[in-house]
Amino acid sequence: MLALQIYWVFKNWISLNFQKIIFSFLPLLPAPCSLVNDRLTLLYHGEKAVNCDQFMLNQIKDLATKLAPRLIEIRRHIHSHPELSGQEYQTAAFVAGVLSSSGLYVQEGIGKTGVIGELRVNSNDERLLAIRTDMDALPIQERTGLEYASRAEGVMHACGHDVHTTVGLGTAMVLSQMAEELGGKIRFLFQPAEEIAQGASWMVEDGAMKNVSAILGVHVFPSIPAGSIGVRYGALTAAADDLEILIIGESGHGARPHEAVDAIWIASQVITALQQAISRTQNPLRPVVLTIGQINGGRAPNVIADKVRLLGTVRSLHPETRAQLPNWIENIVASVCHSYGATYQVNYHQGVPSVQNDYALTQLLQSAGEEAWSSDRVQVLPEPSLGAEDFSVYLDYAPGSMFRLGVGYKERILNHPLHHPEFEVDETAIITGVVTMAYAAYKYCQNSQT
Ligand SMILES: [Zn+2]
Ligand SMILES: [Zn+2]
Repeated sequence: MLALQIYWVFKNWISLNFQKIIFSFLPLLPAPCSLVNDRLTLLYHGEKAVNCDQFMLNQIKDLATKLAPRLIEIRRHIHSHPELSGQEYQTAAFVAGVLSSSGLYVQEGIGKTGVIGELRVNSNDERLLAIRTDMDALPIQERTGLEYASRAEGVMHACGHDVHTTVGLGTAMVLSQMAEELGGKIRFLFQPAEEIAQGASWMVEDGAMKNVSAILGVHVFPSIPAGSIGVRYGALTAAADDLEILIIGESGHGARPHEAVDAIWIASQVITALQQAISRTQNPLRPVVLTIGQINGGRAPNVIADKVRLLGTVRSLHPETRAQLPNWIENIVASVCHSYGATYQVNYHQGVPSVQNDYALTQLLQSAGEEAWSSDRVQVLPEPSLGAEDFSVYLDYAPGSMFRLGVGYKERILNHPLHHPEFEVDETAIITGVVTMAYAAYKYCQNSQT
């Protein structure tokens, strides 16, 4: 009997199960809370040199590699059934099903169509790590010609949220198989409506960040090749605010401008004044981008317009810069309008803040990536983007960091950008994403200082 047990144990010596069984035979050893156990490695190898992080990383890579075909299947399913922001009903049900079958505790209907999956383990560690991915698609007609292209007319996963969801699910599937060794609690957030910058707020309102100590996120990036990732210290994306300016003049005959107040001409002066003032009065080291993307006014070619409405977006990276922008804009609009006899209204609406990546968590992602792959496959991004991302909303409740997952095809000269109807991803990136995220989560749970 004993001989059989010894044989069985020996046969499985490289598996996690072996370690659990060994511990049941060796009660004097400390519990295998994390497999970071030098005494155990001594038993196996007669020396202390075996790196337990490496051991766990190998486990994560093995599990992820085995899951790869299923993850590609999941990604293609989500890709061919895209749903617009706030309407992610089928995607959410699908996500909930995968999480349940992986043994996670699942809550649906969080943040309207969001889903939460929790990996609950017995642990003394009170910290809770959240991993956030998003699920919504865009109102774009897909033109990739892929066999698994969108089956929904005019709706496409052109921002890679199908990949994010798959990476979130893959990470949950991997970590659920090593929950005891992980030694920490993980909450997976599958949020809706990122493209309209509202889903994160909805999730937070429904308690998604309750008790969360730190949060990690991921976004695909076509200009980084698949197999590599990018991390960024500090600002990753910009604050994005909405701007509406109404210029109210006085109508008149097109041939008699002196008897009217031309709202179209004044609007053009306002736009010019704003753009010039950015370059002369804003700190050039603290960027501000103001884009007027829509302008409406006037009724006929020979009638002077009495009203013009300008709609725009205002991007900035620094909270102090952002705070002074509403007054700064209003003062410029006011001075131009007063000069030419018009009245005005400025409506400034604050959208999502800038994503400010936490230093320690960015370090965690960088070291996880470098250990999992190699340092030349981890880019430290020198510049932020002036795009926006509602991941920033979570950062009001806990420190966090979002990394960029390379999805570009190395052999292609042109990888179409995000939001392009021909945007494609090299699916090998999914495993890179899952391993990086799962290993970063493991490292977080190991290091109570993070
Ligand atoms: Zn997008
Ligand atoms: Zn996106």
